[in-house]
Amino acid sequence: MIDLQSILQDIYTEATKTQDKGVVASYIPELANVDINKFGVHLRTCEGTEYGIGDYNEKFSIQSISKVLALTKAISFKGNEVWARVDVEPSGNPFNFLSLLELENGIPRNPLINAGALVISDILISHFENPKEDFINFIRALTLDDSINYNEQVAHSEKITGYRNYAAANLLKSFNNLHNEVEDVLDFYFHQCSIEMNCSQLSKAFYLFANKGKCLQNKTHITESQTKRINALMLTCGFYDEAGEFAFTVGLPGKSGVGGGIVALLPNKFIITTWSPGLNKKGNSKLGMLALEQFTTKTELSIF
Ligand code: GLN
Repeated sequence: MIDLQSILQDIYTEATKTQDKGVVASYIPELANVDINKFGVHLRTCEGTEYGIGDYNEKFSIQSISKVLALTKAISFKGNEVWARVDVEPSGNPFNFLSLLELENGIPRNPLINAGALVISDILISHFENPKEDFINFIRALTLDDSINYNEQVAHSEKITGYRNYAAANLLKSFNNLHNEVEDVLDFYFHQCSIEMNCSQLSKAFYLFANKGKCLQNKTHITESQTKRINALMLTCGFYDEAGEFAFTVGLPGKSGVGGGIVALLPNKFIITTWSPGLNKKGNSKLGMLALEQFTTKTELSIF
């Protein structure tokens, strides 16, 4: 029997000793105010046992982690039709890279980079009756927690500095791969990125990916096969141009965000979430990557 609490404690103690904690994202000005010393780890098993260390109950900006939840909803609405508008290949490039989009005729490489997520936002606003309200309610239902919300300051901060996302959305529109107005798609996208959650709420929200598409309320949101595909996308595309490194050192499907969060999971076993706002050069949480690498090494729990 593995003593998960003491393994997590050891990893936490070790990781907090790290001198170089990376750099807090500042291209979205509102994110730059976060304390670099925050660090939380939370694990939830599929049986429902929870382990938490450090700042695991403190909310942070989930940023790109939201892309997986948005994709899930788009797949539940449109099934395989989604893949006509966005591909499933790793990009090997930063999350906001634009040149490939032009070269590949407005079909984003995958739904977990910004351009792909904008297409997913477009699909969602076409299908939801009240897009922002319906999306936050979906996340509240996954977590059984009505306290989860958008952070309007963060959404606004990103809008007024979102030049590259505006460029991507305009390029998509020029290729007829956005059906709604650029402003409406970006407004939804900036809001979904601004959602604030803590590690334990994220572990709950991602339970459906470890549980064949069924959430904590035992409701089926996506099929087993769709769940398998979303996990495959997290593994191959969840960390931008560091997806290979994450598979190599950690070996779990997962998703990062520039708020410093990472969620990773082992199907049928557990979901683990880390938060440390200092990022490495590729935009992934420095201590989070380190802690998860230690976790799968010490427990030998990975998909490989
Ligand atoms: N909202 C951020 C952006 O679009 C999300 C980036 C990220 O978390 N990698 O730039």
